[in-house]
Amino acid sequence: MDSTFSDIARAMIRPGIFMLFGFVFLWVWGLDRARSWVLCIAVSSFMLAAAMVSHFLAWPGGPKPAAVFCGFLYTLSVLCACEGLLLRTGKRYGLYFDCAMLALVTGLLWIFTYASPSLWARIYIQNFGYGALLLFTSFRLAELRHGNATDRILFWILFGFSVQFFIFTSMTLGLSTPEGGKAFVASPFWGGLQLSLTVFGSGLAFAVLIAAIADMMEDLRRERDSDPLTGALNRRGLADQVRRQFRSPTSLASVIICDIDHFKSINDTFGHDAGDAVLRAFGLLLNDVVRDNDIVARIGGEEFMILLPATVEDHAAEVADRIRLQFKTTVFEFEAGKLLATASFGVAEQQPEELIETTVKRADDRLYKAKNAGRNRVFASKDSARDHNPHKA
Ligand code: GH3
Ligand code: MG
Ligand code: MG
Repeated sequence: MDSTFSDIARAMIRPGIFMLFGFVFLWVWGLDRARSWVLCIAVSSFMLAAAMVSHFLAWPGGPKPAAVFCGFLYTLSVLCACEGLLLRTGKRYGLYFDCAMLALVTGLLWIFTYASPSLWARIYIQNFGYGALLLFTSFRLAELRHGNATDRILFWILFGFSVQFFIFTSMTLGLSTPEGGKAFVASPFWGGLQLSLTVFGSGLAFAVLIAAIADMMEDLRRERDSDPLTGALNRRGLADQVRRQFRSPTSLASVIICDIDHFKSINDTFGHDAGDAVLRAFGLLLNDVVRDNDIVARIGGEEFMILLPATVEDHAAEVADRIRLQFKTTVFEFEAGKLLATASFGVAEQQPEELIETTVKRADDRLYKAKNAGRNRVFASKDSARDHNPHKA
């Protein structure tokens, strides 16, 4: 090996960068080991760094065996990156596909190294192969285009990375067959391809790192803002949503406040765990019945609030009655026996220029009236006036 120390040092910068990314991804994975997709990306970074070192040192066994070995490592790196990105959104290619790809690319590299040597074919197989794999992965992740800023950036870098394989490889190699590895590797085109790989590769690694951190922050925020038992927002999450969506007192909305009837006696008769199961089912039911942009929050032990943006009171009362009917016909089976539970509801519509807090207060007063009128009923403005309600039992 006639490389000087500075040549070696310069050549180690790129693998060094990806090795560093590997350790950072490993650290991020260590923070929450449930995120196995981050581990895939860490392995991908290490494999990429190892492939670069193997490539440069022609290790193990000299140029020919190293060409096949580092092709194997590059392929493994690309497959781990694709699986990691897919796994983040609950998708995957699967072990069979990965093994088949690895065997196919390595087999072809072996053929074009030993049986029918062609550097041109090897470069095309690898670069077009990796470009196709990444491009196909970006198609499978097309929904990221409509996600948050992090997802969108991640998608477009992945897409750009896959496309550059085709463009730069064709521009670099064309149809000519490069002979004599050393002269070819010294050519500016080859340098350009390497630079493009490094820039896009580290850009992608950086975008993936930001996505991993953003995912973690989003999960922490969701945990902080939601009630673990029912999945509904807690008071803090509710306040946050109200601040975001109801800043202006002119935005028309309706409020439903509901409370499970005689819940204390459910706990006393069937036990606290049974009470928890009823609460969980009630929370799920609320989330099931409402629309995506409605807000469901647990505001007390067995008391919930639903905020329905751009909804008139009559419609909100219908929603409340649907929940009431569905809940009262749900049969809970516990060791101590079967249980049927009911809930009461207060409904109010936001008046022009009214603060949402005032609407909430009115809905709460109506819930109180519904309880006093005998429970298992929905009280809206017209029912409050009459002090009785047609929506009952
Ligand atoms: P009402 O019909 O008037 O609403 O009567 P209630 O018994 O439902 O209301 P009360 O406020 O007297 O009792 C609520 C009970 O809810 C008391 C409390 O121990 C129980 N509780 C609060 N949080 C939880 C919880 O997370 N799990 C369980 N199992 N029970 C809870
Ligand atoms: Mg209650
Ligand atoms: Mg209560």
